Amino acid sequence: MPGRWTVDSQVFQENAEKLVQKADCFAVVKNNAYNFGLDFAVDQFLQIGIQHFVTTSLHEAIAVRKRAPQATILLTNPTREFDLARKYHIQLTLTSLDYFYTFKDQLEDLPLQLEYESHLHRSGLKNREEIDQVLAHRNKLDIQGIWTHFGYADDLDGPGDEYSKEREEWLDLLEDLLDDGYQFHYIHAQNSASFFREGGLLPHHTHSRLGIALYGAKPYDDLANDRIDQSLTVSASVVQVRQLNQGQYAGYSFKYQASHQPTQLAIVDIGYGDGLLQARADYPCQIRGKDYPIVGLMMSHLLVEVDDQVQIGDRVYLYSPDPNLRIDYFTHKGVGANSQQLSALNLNSLIKEYD
Ligand SMILES: *Cc1c(COP(=O)(O)O)cnc(C)c1O
Repeated sequence: MPGRWTVDSQVFQENAEKLVQKADCFAVVKNNAYNFGLDFAVDQFLQIGIQHFVTTSLHEAIAVRKRAPQATILLTNPTREFDLARKYHIQLTLTSLDYFYTFKDQLEDLPLQLEYESHLHRSGLKNREEIDQVLAHRNKLDIQGIWTHFGYADDLDGPGDEYSKEREEWLDLLEDLLDDGYQFHYIHAQNSASFFREGGLLPHHTHSRLGIALYGAKPYDDLANDRIDQSLTVSASVVQVRQLNQGQYAGYSFKYQASHQPTQLAIVDIGYGDGLLQARADYPCQIRGKDYPIVGLMMSHLLVEVDDQVQIGDRVYLYSPDPNLRIDYFTHKGVGANSQQLSALNLNSLIKEYD
């Protein structure tokens, strides 16, 4: 049985339910819902009452619309496909003043949200002045909301307290706008990390905007595992067990040399072609509940140093809800960001199953 990518739908749904009990959320479904499958994720979210979605691409926004006829769907990247956005009733983001002025006429009959640039400096209106320039046209526009995206909520380690600064700047701006009498139907800023750090919504906010927590990984390490449940398992199987004599090599480029006699190597049918990151191979896999070191990572195979317990046909776990096989455990170890590990997985080569 080749490499398998398995999601426990019940765990997926219960985890999401736990998160939205606290506050309404825009579910972020970009990049094929963090590789969980857009249709699957949208259906699960709809079942627990989520009716707000965010993505970066118009074609995904349209795919969401087809499954969620009543939902509010926000596109965060600028688009020029105004007819499609209108047809599918997609809310567009005003990502810069230049974008606004260039397409002002086409934007007039579309639901819009203002984006405020955070310290991430990726996108958005830069300051109150730019926001005022847009708001000056508000009578001709359908402005539904305002939002920002914190660039530093996930990682508090950098120089200065960047997250606190960007949060305070945003809250000051928001207070000023509200004091001046502007009203917004949607106000949202918090990704998973910010939502957990604040223990809920910031003042005046109507929604969180969650991604990674909905997909079962902790946004930062000092959260208890039971706050967020992983539904994903990635496994493969032992297809051969080979005996090596001490000193013999295995794998390309003399990758591995047997240090003792005899050495047993399990050949496992999953590799970097299935999206396993090189850095993941620095940590063990699990077979029959026991850890074994990965000693080689090839395109479609792993070499694993094993013992007599391991047999052909045994399942080999690379990721699972086990605390030492969670995606976020390896994130903490430095293998790659949660979303990087998830989105690297190759769903064209792995067998994809929803239990
Ligand atoms: C990806 C993304 C999110 C979700 O972030 P997580 O850390 O995965 O919760 C929220 N907002 C925007 C604009 C994003 O691009």
